[in-house]
Amino acid sequence: MPSDKAQESFTWGPLQLSVLYRGFLEPALFERAFPPLPQVTCDSCPEVKKGRLAASSKCCDVLPRFPNFLFGALLEKEDKPEKLSVWSRREPLSAGGTDEEHEARLAARQQKSPQPCPFFGKAGCKAYTLRPAPCIDYHCNYPNPLVRGLYACLSSTLMMIEREASLYLAQQLGIDLTKMAQGMLKQGGEPLLWQKYLGKEREFYRECSQRALSFSSDQLQELETQRSSRIMNRPGYSDYAELHQKDSAELSSQEQQLFMKGAVPEHLNPLGYMHQQRVLRNYLDKVESYQGSWGLSKLMTIFSGS
Ligand code: SF4
Ligand code: SF4
Repeated sequence: MPSDKAQESFTWGPLQLSVLYRGFLEPALFERAFPPLPQVTCDSCPEVKKGRLAASSKCCDVLPRFPNFLFGALLEKEDKPEKLSVWSRREPLSAGGTDEEHEARLAARQQKSPQPCPFFGKAGCKAYTLRPAPCIDYHCNYPNPLVRGLYACLSSTLMMIEREASLYLAQQLGIDLTKMAQGMLKQGGEPLLWQKYLGKEREFYRECSQRALSFSSDQLQELETQRSSRIMNRPGYSDYAELHQKDSAELSSQEQQLFMKGAVPEHLNPLGYMHQQRVLRNYLDKVESYQGSWGLSKLMTIFSGS
């Protein structure tokens, strides 16, 4: 029996995240406070006033891709399943739009007739507690470059979690990833794509969200091993491999700078799973130390020049 717990969320500083992310993040991260962000005024969106965005969609004129574990919880929540049919590109790792659908949305945006996300409503996002990484890390107003960099790092971290956790959960449910990849490339490749879940895709997504709820620290370790073995041969990995072994406290300031990277597209990110989270932790510590020495209000303006 699916549990309602998958619909719950938790608060981390100014962020409200699905509880499904919690098990994929190292517990030490929650000991750090996320700095507050200035209030944005979505009700009277400044970007709409400036004519950059349409009032009918605001910044939600996209079709975000949902990782399998979030899509399972969405399916459970949605009482109008036809609304989810717009996520027509479904495979065991995620649900999203096809390339053509994304292009059509981009063209509609440029023609100033945007198509709002199906969850966009008068009162904001109707799927707020289950929104995926691109929606979580999007903010239109940062107080300064340091906080902007922190959110870029959060973005890299969430993208990695979505990718690695989805792969892990699909494997746990018996999906052969090699066959799945073949199915993605083939017209009519659904039997290879879904394997024993062909015709039971809904059940598959739901099972992913249920498994994400009970993710353990041992499984977190397995995610780390899984990612390391997969990225070992990626270009750039060898530059980082030695640093991956070091504890944060052992890093020189030059190495710390190396980790203070902004958002890195997931397919180019050479960092290990826990390593990426350590980078985020370092970032949070750095912001906290500025906050401690200069005070919050100064931190909010010190880099903005105001
Ligand atoms: S988050 Fe989006 S809707 Fe809200 S103020 Fe910023 S651009 Fe406007
Ligand atoms: S899921 Fe929510 S936040 Fe994301 S684009 Fe849709 S309406 Fe906006």
